[in-house]
Amino acid sequence: MTPAMIHDTAKSLWKNRIPGQLVIQITDICNARCPQCGMRVTETFPRSRISRGHIRQIIDAAAQKGIQAISFTGGEPFLLRDDLLEMIRYAGAAGIPYIRTGTNGFIFRGSHKSDFCARMEDIAGKLAETTLRNLWISIDSAVPEQHENMRGLPGVIDGIQKALPIFHRYGIYPSANMGINRNLAEKLSGDVHDPLMFYHHYRSGFERFYQMVCDMGFTTVNCCYPMSIDATESETGLSPVYAATATDNLVNFSRMEQLLLYRALFDTIPQYRSRIRIFTPRTSLLALLRQLTGHCHEPRPCRGGIDFFFIDAQKAHAWPCGYRGAEDFGPFPDLNLADLLKNSQHCTSCHWECFRDPSELMGPPLDMLNRPLTLIKRFISDPDYCQLWLEDMRYYRACSFFDGRKAPEWGRMKPFDKSVWHPAPFSGKVQASE
Ligand code: SF4
Ligand code: SF4
Repeated sequence: MTPAMIHDTAKSLWKNRIPGQLVIQITDICNARCPQCGMRVTETFPRSRISRGHIRQIIDAAAQKGIQAISFTGGEPFLLRDDLLEMIRYAGAAGIPYIRTGTNGFIFRGSHKSDFCARMEDIAGKLAETTLRNLWISIDSAVPEQHENMRGLPGVIDGIQKALPIFHRYGIYPSANMGINRNLAEKLSGDVHDPLMFYHHYRSGFERFYQMVCDMGFTTVNCCYPMSIDATESETGLSPVYAATATDNLVNFSRMEQLLLYRALFDTIPQYRSRIRIFTPRTSLLALLRQLTGHCHEPRPCRGGIDFFFIDAQKAHAWPCGYRGAEDFGPFPDLNLADLLKNSQHCTSCHWECFRDPSELMGPPLDMLNRPLTLIKRFISDPDYCQLWLEDMRYYRACSFFDGRKAPEWGRMKPFDKSVWHPAPFSGKVQASE
């Protein structure tokens, strides 16, 4: 983090805010077939895209309101590559320090063709000229054919593997984005009759995944928690405006299953922390585990609708997030962020990592400056949380705060080496709250 970034972060925290984030869905057009997503190419709803002019207005307003992070998402953002590049440049020129985008990987098809390397040089070179900070590439399974079948994108794993050294040469270190789904574990059918077995299937699934992305040459990995929201039955009152969710069994986990797989992920991460930069904070997983078991320490309220917003491709309106579709905030430039802070609500209704992870991690610094006594009491009454948060912070520092334009510094990550890692034995006895 540069001194300017630290200064801006501190300024936000003093105002009882955390650094703002906008997720802009530049389009809902997609060319993939992911069964876990309502935007797959086989869905027949009318597709949209936000015009360049409109996105420029949103970026200008974001800069003026002090928003620090913009993620350009889709659909598949790289289907609009020229627009995307221009918007990244524009956001950089407007002074937005954290700019991110991602791809389903279709750009890496055709790795057997003679022009493949030249194509990769071209894309990496153009991205390198911008101030893009993070590029994510979605991967759903440790078995290449399974991933490619799910996405309907044959040959992409080979292409990604060939492209990574080229991107690295241009100073771009993409992150593998693991979307949690049932194909990550060995085949399990039906309900969880044996929680311990379910846990172990996911533990070995996560291990296989981390090992595969290390072997492919990735230096960073993130994780998307499973999103399955059935608006017709939702007890939470959620209705997705961002269709990156589906009710397919592949991502539809019971409360108990979520608990077991988060625990499996929580226990697997330390094993790989020195080998690849793992963005997923264990503090956040602990908070989700506690939420699912009804623990006395509740998770931090999500900053969706306070500091974080989603802009949809159809109306180009702002929403508290992609899933509170009943709360249309209208055009983002017209939003009064001070009013939103005053009237903010405590929401933990979904597990969307883009908003939940940073909300959890930034909770302690926010309390430190605004409610120091609350933080002291929390850390005294909850030493496990305190220790975990401090460890996450040390790890984030060792990983240069996941700056995707920097090579990993293996020496700084070495102290986190727990490759022979024995987490506290897990008995499989857990109780999900109703
Ligand atoms: S998950 Fe991404 S790549 Fe897959 S269908 Fe949805 S938008 Fe497209
Ligand atoms: S927890 Fe956050 S992302 Fe999820 S519904 Fe609430 S505000 Fe939206």
